[in-house]
Amino acid sequence: MLRMLRYLWPSPATAFGLTAAAVMVCLGGRACVVNGVVEVGGGRGRALARFFPRAMRFEAITLGHVVLGSSQAVLSRMRTHEQVHVRQFERWGVLFFPLYAGSSLWQLLRGRDPYRQNCFEREAFRAAGAGVNRAT
Ligand SMILES: [Zn+2]
Repeated sequence: MLRMLRYLWPSPATAFGLTAAAVMVCLGGRACVVNGVVEVGGGRGRALARFFPRAMRFEAITLGHVVLGSSQAVLSRMRTHEQVHVRQFERWGVLFFPLYAGSSLWQLLRGRDPYRQNCFEREAFRAAGAGVNRAT
């Protein structure tokens, strides 16, 4: 029952992630399931990152129980970090998006790095160690 709730609570984010994952697979990305999470990486999907402003580009992103990465190597390297975000989605559900944005805004208003000082990122970086590049 608890396991089902962990998947149900963030399901809107997961649905969005699965839609993005389907686009990546259509662009040649490869999908697999690791620890109950769909991971998609590689293919020409990384070209989509060019549409984001430089400050918002990422190597990997977690959307509920879906992790999108620029390559399989990135997914492997950032797995621990992204799995922390999966646990955060399980804890906060759809509230994760506004809470994440609020934490970034709070840090920005304090003159700090809105990414590195975001409380959700700090938790993920702590779990994964400090040697992780740009991930969300
Ligand atoms: Zn992150």
